[in-house]
Amino acid sequence: MANETKKKASDFRYNTGETKVPWAAVGENYNAEDLMTIIKFMMVGSGEAYDAALKAVEKEVYALDKVSEPPAKLSLDKEVAKAEEMCDKYLDTEGCAFLTNCTAGFEIACKYTGLKPGDEVIVPAITFAATMAYPLSIGCKIVFADVDPLTLNMDPKDVARKITSKTKMIVPVHIGGYPVDMDPIMELAKQHDIIVLEDAAHAFGGEYKGRKLGTIGHFGSYSFHEVKNITSFGEGGILTTTIEDFRPEMKRARFLGTDFSKKIKNWLYDVTPIQGKDGGKFVATNFSTTEIQGLGLQLQIARIEKIIEARREASAYLNSRLAGCDALILQDLGGDGCKPTFHLYQLQIDPEKAGGDVQVLKKKLAEKGVTEIAHFGPLYRFQVLKDLGYDEAAIAATCPVTEEVFDRRFTHFPVYGLTKEQLDYMADSILASIDEMKRGV
Ligand SMILES: *Cc1c(COP(=O)(O)O)cnc(C)c1O
Repeated sequence: MANETKKKASDFRYNTGETKVPWAAVGENYNAEDLMTIIKFMMVGSGEAYDAALKAVEKEVYALDKVSEPPAKLSLDKEVAKAEEMCDKYLDTEGCAFLTNCTAGFEIACKYTGLKPGDEVIVPAITFAATMAYPLSIGCKIVFADVDPLTLNMDPKDVARKITSKTKMIVPVHIGGYPVDMDPIMELAKQHDIIVLEDAAHAFGGEYKGRKLGTIGHFGSYSFHEVKNITSFGEGGILTTTIEDFRPEMKRARFLGTDFSKKIKNWLYDVTPIQGKDGGKFVATNFSTTEIQGLGLQLQIARIEKIIEARREASAYLNSRLAGCDALILQDLGGDGCKPTFHLYQLQIDPEKAGGDVQVLKKKLAEKGVTEIAHFGPLYRFQVLKDLGYDEAAIAATCPVTEEVFDRRFTHFPVYGLTKEQLDYMADSILASIDEMKRGV
């Protein structure tokens, strides 16, 4: 017997009822010893007090193990469904799907659109590589829209210039959780029959004109990777859609296209293609999430408003400390239906007034021990694109604002979880650095 657990196993993973020989042990359990390892992983520490507390917990966990059952399901069940219900309620959407990550959501949206090699997808020049990864991987042409100089978001006017008869998708990214100007983008999409996929990786809980970010385009995909505002044990994503016909397909698109409402001869279910745009069809793969992730997401959605408020307060405090300096352009705090999530604090400098560009400031801050967030670069500078034949210089020439703001003007800072002393130190260091730059030292 490989499985030494003394627990009842008949309803583990699959409920096979009162059968004498259950369909049991299809997967292995976690025992008390494993759980202690998990607790030590989640609650790191050392020293006498830590060891004593751990010992006490250990005793109780082993006692609990004796009088408890393992969970019946570890993947795609009630907790995942509850997390999705909470998301739908919070976002005012229907039929969202909890996936392995945000990039998986992009993939489903792209497959729905029926993207094929040669189709064009417009993404902002400044974002994370994930925004372009799937269309790039299947041979689409990525077209880079220049950014707005203040928000760093995709500039709708440049999107309009870059639409061609081959454009099949536009991917606005709410960078740092600041809302993209969605109305003109949706208008362009309507005129040209283009699918809009919102990269809402930073934007869970933000609003544009009073509507939740990620629920305005045809699709919206959120990330719960460990560095985002909320997480589901390090990885996770939610995909939403405003396309009513596609909603019933979302969960099948997550899990191989299995359809339990249909059966093939002598078997329990059928596997059918997923219905895409304009009568198209596609084959689903597997982006299933675990029950633990579902639970983890529920816990954090429950406090999302408090998290955003704490981030807003920290950003407002930094603004108040930096307000007097004429060489700085501060994070926009929104208001009037515009609600950023404050995932990142964006600071810009005016290189002329500061007497140097942001690269100088970044160097000075690093010397003072102030960490900025390794922010998002122009994607067209990456080697992967050069290898695929993209001409960096030619693309850069079509994105003059991107070139200017990235090299000379902006950087991002973390704000969440910092103490007032740390925020003050950050503000003091920024002001001192600008002062040094102005004096040329
Ligand atoms: C993190 C991130 C993603 C990808 O999210 P995953 O959940 O890691 O797939 C996409 N876009 C942006 C802008 C991101 O920062």
